[in-house]
Amino acid sequence: MQHWQEAQAVIQTLKTNGYEAYVVGGAVRDLLLQRPVADIDIVTTAKPNDVSQIFSSVHQLNTEHQTILVKVKGILFEVTTIKGSSLEEDLKARDLTINSLALNEKEELVDLVNGKQDLSLKLLRSVEPERRMTEDPLRMLRVFRFVSELGFVIDEQLLNTINKHRGAVKEIAIERVVKEWLKLIKGSYRNDSLTLMQKAKLHHSLPGLRLTSIGIQKLSMLRSLAGQSEIVCWTAYCICMGHEDEKPLKRLALSNQIQRAVKLRMKFYKLRLEKSWTPFELYNATLNVALDVENLRFLFNLTSISKDNVSSMWTSLPIQSRTELAITGSDLLRITRKEQGPWIRDALNQAERLVVTGECPNSIEDLIKALRRCEQC
Ligand code: ATP
Ligand code: MG
Repeated sequence: MQHWQEAQAVIQTLKTNGYEAYVVGGAVRDLLLQRPVADIDIVTTAKPNDVSQIFSSVHQLNTEHQTILVKVKGILFEVTTIKGSSLEEDLKARDLTINSLALNEKEELVDLVNGKQDLSLKLLRSVEPERRMTEDPLRMLRVFRFVSELGFVIDEQLLNTINKHRGAVKEIAIERVVKEWLKLIKGSYRNDSLTLMQKAKLHHSLPGLRLTSIGIQKLSMLRSLAGQSEIVCWTAYCICMGHEDEKPLKRLALSNQIQRAVKLRMKFYKLRLEKSWTPFELYNATLNVALDVENLRFLFNLTSISKDNVSSMWTSLPIQSRTELAITGSDLLRITRKEQGPWIRDALNQAERLVVTGECPNSIEDLIKALRRCEQC
């Protein structure tokens, strides 16, 4: 396991201070599956206060869940106080058997619910599914997230429970839906997951997401989103769902920065559906947006321009930003001796366009001549 040594150091330190500690959850699951480990969660009998005192670099993460973020040798660990009276109780209260495994400092497995067997059976199973799924309905969405990531099948009893309680997903907090949904659409078995999710009719009730059948069908046909940025994933999602712009992302409480980035990509994706890049559109889009748009075209199985070609089109633009324009507002005022006014903005826009399209060289003299010719100054 990547960073196992650091994790071991965290566990050892807690043990030296008289507490029990284990690596739990996804890290153990992924270790046994020989998949890359995303983040390492540690549980301990120490209370958050004790944890804070033992480690020098800590950050209170979530008082409600009694989690402290501990940094050891540059690696972050989420250290959570064991829920209930024992490790056993904590592990049994987790969502799925494959997520209920723990490792001690000697890398010995604690497996109280046959999680290891379910891993080899590729089975998503819950002990007491009725109780687990209703206690926290997010777990139902997590089931489909793990189908998508791992390609596992859902245990029959668990699936029956989901069918019975699917309406409860309406109550999940949107931020929690968002995290699981992103992981779901990035999974290698996305199609299987979406098919099962539609069968279970879970997709209608997920807060914030407006999933249509056609949208889901388009999402199923999309190439893999593995390794794609969050911005590209959300843009792809919006395109699939037929959204006109980024507005539906507001309901998902995504940051303004992400919303703005998605809006730009959607705008140029649409333009690009009609024709290839003109220098002026490429300039307006900027390189990163154009690369993402070509990436999105690839994801949607449209012909796309290679990264190298987009980059060389970008470098061959006469200028790459307004700051490189040879003329400024004060040049215009000085040379024309006219009064300040909105004409300056218009003239600069025109100058920018003339330079980018190659109609005019980027020099003050040429630009003044060209602007006078079209009565812009
Ligand atoms: P990832 O690899 O994406 O991090 P994960 O399984 O580790 O997947 P986390 O959200 O990091 O998911 O949660 C860590 C562990 O905490 C899980 O493996 C599981 O044991 C437990 N867990 C997380 N969310 C829930 C939940 N809603 N209900 C019950 N247990 C949960
Ligand atoms: Mg995790």
